[in-house]
This record gives sequence, structure tokens and C-alpha cells, in this order.
Amino acid sequence: MSKIQMKTPLVEMDGDEMTRIVWKLLKEKLILPYVDLKTEYYDLGLPHREETQDQVTVDAARANLRLGVGVKCATITPNAQRVEEYHLSKMWKSPNATLRAILDGTVFRRPIIAPGIEPYIPTWKRPITIARHAYGDIYKSVELRAPAGSRAELCVTDAEGRETRELIHAFDGDGIVMGMHNLDRSIESFAHSCFKFALDAGENLWFGAKDTISKTYDHRFKDIFAEIYEREYKAAFEERGIEYFYTLIDDIVARIIRSEGGVIWACKNYDGDVMSDMVATAFGSLGMMSSVLVSPSGAYEYEAAHGTVTRHYYKYLRGEPTSTNCIATLWAWTGALKKRGELDGTPELSAFASRLEDAAIRTIGDGIMTGDLAAMSKLENRRAVGTEAFLDAIAERL
Ligand code: NAP
Ligand code: MG
Repeated sequence: MSKIQMKTPLVEMDGDEMTRIVWKLLKEKLILPYVDLKTEYYDLGLPHREETQDQVTVDAARANLRLGVGVKCATITPNAQRVEEYHLSKMWKSPNATLRAILDGTVFRRPIIAPGIEPYIPTWKRPITIARHAYGDIYKSVELRAPAGSRAELCVTDAEGRETRELIHAFDGDGIVMGMHNLDRSIESFAHSCFKFALDAGENLWFGAKDTISKTYDHRFKDIFAEIYEREYKAAFEERGIEYFYTLIDDIVARIIRSEGGVIWACKNYDGDVMSDMVATAFGSLGMMSSVLVSPSGAYEYEAAHGTVTRHYYKYLRGEPTSTNCIATLWAWTGALKKRGELDGTPELSAFASRLEDAAIRTIGDGIMTGDLAAMSKLENRRAVGTEAFLDAIAERL
């Protein structure tokens, strides 16, 4: 059998712990036998980030911008304990934060649906994708306590030194106050990423905020989305047969619960933080959640939504059996291969990625799954298998 050829390499970003083990096995068993895989390899594993003083992460992000499509393994975000464990010279920033800063994108999280793994909301038949704006609002806010008798004012000083002031509150008792901001250019790139993603997926886009209460702040989000949609995307949406609308977030919440799924829900930063956890939990587990960062310039970075599964890694190191779910990592690869095939005009590459997804879903449908899935599956013939046996079962079906 001749292998499927690639034109442009993927940016391959290796990672840490159990997901690094899964990464290697998955490539060997499911991709390399069929695809003449071309990648530009960057080792984002913590030891190599330390060796390169994290330059490797910056290089990988730039390569992702240059080549367009990247696939990333989960990586450790160092904390004090990791600094000790890995003898780090510095508490390096989260690679995801570095990638986001350079690619300047929006993160889309989408559940992977499989037979027997049923969402808690019975009407949900298709995935619900959360598009979370990842800049500003309460994540970059300033907060103060305001003691009784104090006045809090909002003051904006323009470039000429002119002040605009507004009274927030005159406190007759002790209280609290917070100031936050966002940027037009960040909201604009959020909007572009959402419209592009909806066109790609062929799914409706819903955006909700609280503009009835927040008449300047949230209203600005609504207006920027509306302007960009009218100017650049409306015609393409109509041609694709999909719609975009804005409504109050309260209304969106009610619509989401009643819906069949199959929509993209654009959320402001805080809403996206909270609602993505709700949607992920309602669909089953983080092990069944795919994630892609879409930059406004059209670069894509695919990854799993979960971490490096540390607890399983220590079992693996002790030689004990593990049952780590590879589905989200597999979807990072298939997402990247499909997108590469689409951009390069190599449909056999995209078709292979779809067949690989089918094989994985059929494996779960046949009752063969990892422990996390077996614990929640409704299938009567389900049985939990080990990390490697699950990959082998997918390979057999592929
Ligand atoms: P985690 O790696 O997602 O694991 C948390 C728990 O969820 C696991 O112990 C396991 O439960 C379950 N789980 C997650 N993924 C699974 C899978 N594929 N198969 C089976 N079970 C799975 O989160 P964490 O333990 O909080 O973080 C570990 C490391 O990952 C940290 O160093 C963190 O910085 C990093 N992290 C990286 C990313 C990223 O790169 N995008 C994201 C999050 C966290 P049981 O142990 O009960 O089986
Ligand atoms: Mg959260």
C-alpha cells in the first residue's frame, strides 16, 4: 500500500508526561503506517523548554503562523512544585498563554460525541461549541475595598490630558469596587475568528452578552460583531445557509438548553470560562473535548482540552497498567490533518483523518473503551481496556 502524501508540514508540538507517551504511540500505530507524515517538530516538553529558556515555545508559535496548521500535545504549566521537580531556572509561562499571545486567537472547545456516552441534556444530539474570548474583562481588572464614607469614580484621561469622570458610588457603608477594560482590536479579532469558524463548521453562530444593563461595555461587543458581520461575512453566511444572531445571554442560555446542539456559542471571557465547564460536564468528560485556537490571520492550532494526566504517568513509570483516553489527542491530530488537507488541496489526507475518527468512534460503539469512558457509558457490552490496547483496537478497525 502506498502512503498518503502531504504537501506542507504540520507544526508538531510535543508535550509532557502521559500525553507524551500517548502522542508517540498514537503516531506509531494510527498515522505513520498510512501517511507519509511531514512535520516541523518542536519539543515543548518541560525539560526542553528549560534547556532553550522557553525559546522553543516562541519558535513553535511563529512556525504555526508561518505554516498555518499546528498540533500540540498537552504540556505542564509550571508551578512551585514543578520548579522543584524539574529543577527549573524559572517558573516558565504556560505554553498555551505564549501561543495565544503570538497567534492572538479565540479558543473553540467542542465535545466529541460517541455512542453510549450520552449528554445529561436529552435533547442535545449534536455538539455545542463554546468560543471563548480570551482577553480582558475581570481577568485583567483592578479591584479595591471602599470603606464607608468614600467616593469611587471612574476617570478616563485622554491623550491631551482631558478627563472624563463618572461617579461609581458614594459609599455610606463599607464596600468594594472594580475597574475592567477591553480593546476594540481584541474584540474585532474575536469576531473574525468566530465568523470564520462558523463558516468552516457550517453551523449557526449565537452571541450573547448583557447589553441591556451594560449599555456601553457589552454594547460595544454587540456593535463590533454586527459591523463586521454586515461588512464581511453576511453574504458568505447566506450562501452557506447558516445564520448569525445576537441576543441577551439569558435568552441564549434558555435556547441552548432547548436546542439539539450543532451551534457555536460565542461567549465573553468570563461567560466562556463558566459555560465551557458546564457544557463539557453536560456532554461527559474532558477526555472527550477537542480544542482549537483560531487566529484572525487564519492559523489553526489543535490540541486536547485536558492536561498531561499526571496521575496516570506516575502509574506508568511504576510499571502499573494505565487506561488513558487518547480520543481528545487523536482529534487534535485528525483536526490538523483535515485542515492541512483542505488548505493544500489534498482531499485524501482529509478523508484519511475522517476514517480515523470513524474507526475510533466505532471502537467505543463496540464497547471497547478506556476506564474514564467505561465509568459513564450506557453500553451493556462495555469493557475498559488499557491505554495501548485501546489504540490497537482503533488500529484494527482502521
Ligand atoms: P488533567 O491532566 O486534565 O487530569 C485531571 C484528571 O482528569 C486525571 O487525573 C484523570 O482522572 C482525568 N483525565 C484527564 N484527561 C484524561 C484522559 N485523557 N484519560 C483519562 N482520564 C483523564 O489535569 P491536571 O491533573 O489538573 O493537570 C496535570 C498537568 O497538566 C498540570 O501540570 C497542568 O499544568 C497541565 N495542563 C495542561 C493543559 C494543556 O496543555 N492544555 C491543560 C490543563 C492542564 P483520574 O486520575 O481520576 O483517572
Ligand atoms: Mg473554567
